[in-house]
Amino acid sequence: MAGVNRQKIRSLNIGVQNSLIIGVIINSSNFKTFDGSQMKFNKTERGVWTFTLRDSEEDFINVTVWGSAQYVKKLYSTFHIGSIVEAVNGKVTSRGLNDKNEFFVPSATSQYNLSINENSALIQFHDAPDKEEYEKLLALPTRSIELSKELVEILNNIEDMRDQFVDVFVIVTFVSDGRDIITKDGRSLKCRSFEALDSSTEDTVALMLWEKEWVERAEFWEPKKTVLHLVDAKIAYDKYKNKIALSIARKTLITENPTVQRTAYLRKMLSNREKEILSTDPFAVPNPHTITNVMTIQEITSKLNTWSNSVDNRIQFAVILRAKITEMNTDTETANTFLIKCALCKKILNDKKDSCMNLECPCGNGSRIPLNTVILNIKLNLKDSTGYLIGCRLTGPAAERTLGCSATKFQAMTLPERESIKWTFLMDECEIRLHVIGPTSKFPHTLYNILSIERIRDMIDDKEFIMD
Ligand SMILES: [Zn+2]
Repeated sequence: MAGVNRQKIRSLNIGVQNSLIIGVIINSSNFKTFDGSQMKFNKTERGVWTFTLRDSEEDFINVTVWGSAQYVKKLYSTFHIGSIVEAVNGKVTSRGLNDKNEFFVPSATSQYNLSINENSALIQFHDAPDKEEYEKLLALPTRSIELSKELVEILNNIEDMRDQFVDVFVIVTFVSDGRDIITKDGRSLKCRSFEALDSSTEDTVALMLWEKEWVERAEFWEPKKTVLHLVDAKIAYDKYKNKIALSIARKTLITENPTVQRTAYLRKMLSNREKEILSTDPFAVPNPHTITNVMTIQEITSKLNTWSNSVDNRIQFAVILRAKITEMNTDTETANTFLIKCALCKKILNDKKDSCMNLECPCGNGSRIPLNTVILNIKLNLKDSTGYLIGCRLTGPAAERTLGCSATKFQAMTLPERESIKWTFLMDECEIRLHVIGPTSKFPHTLYNILSIERIRDMIDDKEFIMD
């Protein structure tokens, strides 16, 4: 390209003109908008997006994109973690060490930040033979793994380590399904939890991902296989768990399956472990794609029966079951196929017009108008050659995915329309992914939560289609 000046992150300087930097995106934070009406010139809605760009084993820099919301959103949805890009004519600025923004971005090795401003700079894909060199950088730890702390040390000293940032090197043991939530100030967010451990302890730590890019990437994480190097994970008070815990912060950098020996070592350690590892939180819904364990209804029942002797330790496991659906309550008026919930605090309500009356919730204490959502709440009975499972539940996003339509759309259908959807599943051989949560002394029922349903007929059709 004429007139451009190819630069390495390491050689950047304030005032450099027409620079072109090539690198791989190793981290991407959520795109944000803000009100532009206070701006001097351009008063439309503004957007900002920060990502981290790496061009060598040692060097990476934080890049901030500024512009109209539309422009920034376009770039944010085009370039992802793993994209090899060229940043052209960005503005190099110094990092202020006491700048509070530093708290919310990864600790880059470069002493500068790069700004990409709409109209004066651009980002584009880099497509050249040297692309592979950059791809490799994605799986290299961003800091020496020797600096990682063992989980046992963190867990034993967690109170004293409050507000510190630590590096850990862990293997994933559980990945939850993605969740859409609405924050108290009304923004909708995607999140996903996962659990992990290292060789120092049998206790897993539960972590939450809030950045959309990582929530999506974690869809492909596999329990007992995916290894993560977390740099600058934060030890902080967690108001949901009501205790100090390890967490992923906006500063945290994640490297998936680092290309170092310790990765294979951790996998080997877990593959030798017989014990099944599932989430410690019975409310965490596993990602259906991570389930591999196939069982019959009889095997599920006997597993539950042998366990119920031991008291308050609630058993839970996730299985694939090949069965037929014999009943599904979707096509009668009295069937309670829908639940109404407060969108913010999730309290179940009787009527769509009700407020949740929860004084801790903005909708309940009157500081905002009630915001209720309708969710699907389907009860199913299953049958295989070994027995019956009665009263399985298919709710929320899993139900919408299965039926192929939203709760409100399904609610708007006539009963005969709903009945015909039901009959596309009934009495057909299906592969059902199921999360089984055993009873406790306080709650004497077993919960059979269905995570996904696929007709075996469709699965075979899909395969044939691929072979064609
Ligand atoms: Zn509420």
